Parts: sequence; C-alpha cells; structure tokens
Amino acid sequence: MNISHISDEDRNLIVNIFAGDSDSIHIFWNCEKGYIIGLCGNLFPCEINDPFEYIRKTDWIEDSSRSAFDVLCSQIEEGIMKSIDRNSIAVDIPMKLPGESVYALKHIFVLFLRNESGKIISAHINIRSYSEKETQEREIVHLFTSDKAPQLFGQRVARMMEKNADRNIAFIQFDVERFKLINDTYGVEVGDQLLKFFNDSLSVICSDDKPFMRLTADVFMIITVFDDENEILEFIHKLDSMLRGYMGIDYRLVYGVAIAEDRTLHTRRHGDNATLARQSVKGNALNNIGFYNGSLKTALYHQQSIEDDMTRAMINNEFVMFLQPKFSISSGKIIGAEALTRWFHSEKGLIPPDEFIPIFEKNGFILKLDQLIWEKACKKIRQWIDSGIEPVPISVNISREYLHSFDVAGKFSELIKKYDIPIKLLEAEITESVDAEDTSGVVRQMKKIGFTMLMDDFGSGYSSLNMLKTTPFDVLKIDRNFLSEFMESDRGRKIIAHTISMSQDIGLDIIAEGVETNEQAQFLSMCGCDAAQGFYYSKPVSAEEFDRRLLEVNN
Ligand code: C2E
Ligand code: MG
Ligand code: MG
Repeated sequence: MNISHISDEDRNLIVNIFAGDSDSIHIFWNCEKGYIIGLCGNLFPCEINDPFEYIRKTDWIEDSSRSAFDVLCSQIEEGIMKSIDRNSIAVDIPMKLPGESVYALKHIFVLFLRNESGKIISAHINIRSYSEKETQEREIVHLFTSDKAPQLFGQRVARMMEKNADRNIAFIQFDVERFKLINDTYGVEVGDQLLKFFNDSLSVICSDDKPFMRLTADVFMIITVFDDENEILEFIHKLDSMLRGYMGIDYRLVYGVAIAEDRTLHTRRHGDNATLARQSVKGNALNNIGFYNGSLKTALYHQQSIEDDMTRAMINNEFVMFLQPKFSISSGKIIGAEALTRWFHSEKGLIPPDEFIPIFEKNGFILKLDQLIWEKACKKIRQWIDSGIEPVPISVNISREYLHSFDVAGKFSELIKKYDIPIKLLEAEITESVDAEDTSGVVRQMKKIGFTMLMDDFGSGYSSLNMLKTTPFDVLKIDRNFLSEFMESDRGRKIIAHTISMSQDIGLDIIAEGVETNEQAQFLSMCGCDAAQGFYYSKPVSAEEFDRRLLEVNN
C-alpha cells in the first residue's frame, strides 16, 4: 500500500475522524486530488480514486437500490463540481456493510470540506446504522407500511414547520401520469419497482430538511423550505430529471405545489391544496407543474417552459405549416388555403396552436413564427408554379400584436419578390381587434400594394361592425362559433343571411369558417356565400397531402 503521497494534514484528519468510532464507516475522499485516503478505519489502497466506484463493486448495496445510490453519487459529484452552498448531504439507503448479514436502512452523511476560497476539496462520507426505533419510524413514514404513517409524517412536518417558522414552506406532490398504463404494459412487478425506485431516490434527494412521504399508490409528497419561488422550480426540475426514465420506461410525472402561506391551517390542508394543484395540470401537454391558488403562477410556469423550448423548436424545424383548403360550395373545387401552424414537439408530440400562439403573442416570438410560416407559404406557391400545378391563393395569419411596430407590408412585398409570385396568391388574415387604428393603417397600406386582406373571425367579438366601418378589408371571414350558434335559431339564421347580404352591399367577398355540416354549407350557399372552409370539407392537412387533394379535386 502506497500512502506516501497523502499529506500529513490529511493523515491527521483521518486519525481524528476514525479514532474511537467502530460503529460506522468513514470514507475520507480527497476529491480535489482524486484519492481515497481512508475507509473503514484503515488507510486505503490509493489506486482507487473514486469511493463510489469502490462501493458499486461491493455487495453493500442491494440491486434494487442501485439506481437510488447512483442518484446519491450524482448529487455528491454535482455538489463538488458546482461547489454548492450546502455543506452536507444526508440520505437513507438500505445497505449491508461488511460483517452484516442483511440489508438494513443506513444513514449516509456527506460533509464537504472546503479550502480558504470556498472550493470543496474533500468529502467525508459517514455511513451509520439506524437504531431499531429510528428504522421503524422512517420505514413506516416512507413506505406507508402502517396506518400510523400519516400521523408520524404529520408530526415530522409540524416539527419542521415550527422550526422554520420564519421561512417559506412548500408542499410538493407528484404522481405518475397514467400509472395504471405502466402496470398494464410492463406488469405490476415493474410498477412496484418503479415506486420503490422513487422512494429510494427520494430518500437520497430529500435530506432531513425535506420530509417526504408516499401518500397513496403512486402519489408522493415532499415538504421543503425555500427562499425564492424559483428554487421550487429548480428543485422540481432536478427531481424530474432524476426520477424519469427508470429502466428506459417512458412516463411523465405531474407536480402540484402549495405554498403554506397561512400557517394556522392544518398541515393536511396544505397537502390537499397540493393535490388540487397537481390535478389541475393533468393531461396538459405542455405543463406538468401546477401551483395551488395561483393560476397566474401556473400560467407563468407554462409560459416559461414554452419559452425555453421555442427557440430550439425553431432550429429543429418543429413548426410545420399545415394547409386547410377553402372550397367553392357550388363547384366543389378548392379555391384557396389557409396556412396554420402545427408544432410537432420532439418530446411532447403535437401541440395545437391555441396552446402556444397566445404565449408567443405575449413574448414577441410570434413575429418570428409568423414570418417563418409566411415564407413557407410563398415557397409552396413557388413550388406549385414550378411543377405546373395550378396554384391557389394561400392566406396567412398576421398577429395583430405587432401591427404597429413591424413593417408587415414591407416584409410581404419582399417575400413575393424573393419567390417571384403573383401578388394575388398571398393573402393575409387579420383578426378583428379592439385597437382598430393600427389594423386599419396596415390594411390600407397592404391593399395599396395589392394584397388581398381578410378580416378573420368576424362575429366573434363586439367590435366586428366597427371594424368594418373603419377598415377597408376585401374579404370577411365568418367565425365558426358565430356560424354554428346562429344557425341554431330562426332569428340567428336571419342575422347570418343579412350579414352576408350586407357584406355584398359594401363590396366585400365572404367566406365562412368552421363549416361542419352539409346543412350549413347549403344554407350559406342559399344566402349567397359560396366560399367555405371547415371540417365538413377538410381538416387542415400537411402540405404534401394538400398537393394530392389539389390535383385530385381541381383536375
Ligand atoms: P383561425 O385563423 O381562425 O384558423 C381557423 C381555425 O379553425 C384553425 O384552428 C382550424 O383548424 C379551425 N377549424 C377550421 N375548420 C373547422 C371546423 O369545421 N370545425 C372546428 N371546430 N374548427 C375548425 P387551429 O389551426 O387550431 O388554429 C387556431 C388559431 O391559431 C387560428 O385561428 C389562428 O388564429 C391561430 N394560428 C394558427 N396558426 C397561426 C400562425 O401561423 N400565425 C398566427 N399568427 N396565428 C396562427
Ligand atoms: Mg385565420
Ligand atoms: Mg378564424
């Protein structure tokens, strides 16, 4: 054994630490230089420079707890690498130490030692057995093995809250979305293993300052102190990255957070609030963290996760242009198309525009997305012309959010020049808006250049008529709810009929959106509206599918 390179200082440290403690194991790890200098009261062969590798090779850890042990190792390594503020990590893992015959819960306490500049240079890892009483209490709480568990857990939480009376406390719950599916697909045994993995990992991740408990089958709850709400999100992100992907299984965890603002409430109430928060985001493709009583916070988080994703998504080409054909009711031919965005998210699958457009409108990203779709529409038109397909106009949506600050007319002109396409083939849809002035200016400018302007969603808001008065649109697009609701009554049908004849009177073309039945189509046709777009004819389809239909229907 060569220990000559161990400094006197380190050697003294080991002697001091090990002296007189035969009940537990001490590992002294000089992580800066990368060697173990002490293990089980002995100086250690110095070829082994990673204590975790050493332990992994022993049978100290049961196979089923190995994943949890890996989580511990990554926490310690991360702690060392980032020199976190925390000076220690304390965890529980079932282990069988030398001389023992069965696996039993052990308390692992890792103390980081720093140099003068605060960098972690060594770690002292202490593994000790629990007393029988301690073991029982912990197992009961964590594994829910007795109906005493909630009571014991409640006491622990109450103690913790008392101790941290002047700090913020959050109740965090999570469960596996469609856990039943895992049982059904992989078998109950795998389901049980997964839950055990959660349990073991939590005992690693949640040191003494974060009591946790398994509440029911797959629902876990963790109580934690925090200073700033971002810490909660960071903690959940970390938890999520550690708990997901066990055995390569694809599952999603859903989290609920309740902040214990009112300390006079029973702890159970905070737990219930966390349950409500968790349930509020079930089935939501984009957001798996709900906050109790804070729709604002939930929305904020939702927004944050989309914002994190959107730039990457754009680079990865996840935004795709779909085309919904517009039909002539009388001839049955395709007379145009509307370009609609679809987000094929690499992890979350297809996300409908309603879930991301409003957020992009708020954060300005819509400007990039819209320009992308406008460009894709122009490219498509160019492609039709080049391949000898009779082109139809494509209308693109313009978000009104930036009408006042962005040169839409300039951009559109640039595009038709770049792709060398007839101006009549690129149309623009703008939703009626409260801020009619900006819209009006842009519409006038666009029309002057020669673009066809459509007023989208007519009848969905109160300002529709006002908009008609102030803004010279070319085409009025009847909103789908307006159509379906008004079609239901005699009075409503009269209003639709008059809207159509009024628009003709003032020289506007008209198209109905959201046509879902033959009855609606026939009624519109009877009233003099021949153009229709809706599921009755076709849903929005991929550009390739649209090409096929165009060739099939129009030839
Ligand atoms: P919109 O411009 O009014 O587009 C029509 C929406 O109605 C589309 O929803 C379309 O799929 C849907 N729709 C069409 N026919 C029917 C029908 O018969 N029944 C029903 N129930 N729905 C029908 P989608 O694609 O989900 O888009 C929703 C909205 O998101 C669009 O409403 C538009 O305002 C916005 N949007 C979509 N893509 C873009 C884009 O690239 N840029 C901007 N700024 N907005 C976009
Ligand atoms: Mg539209
Ligand atoms: Mg519309």
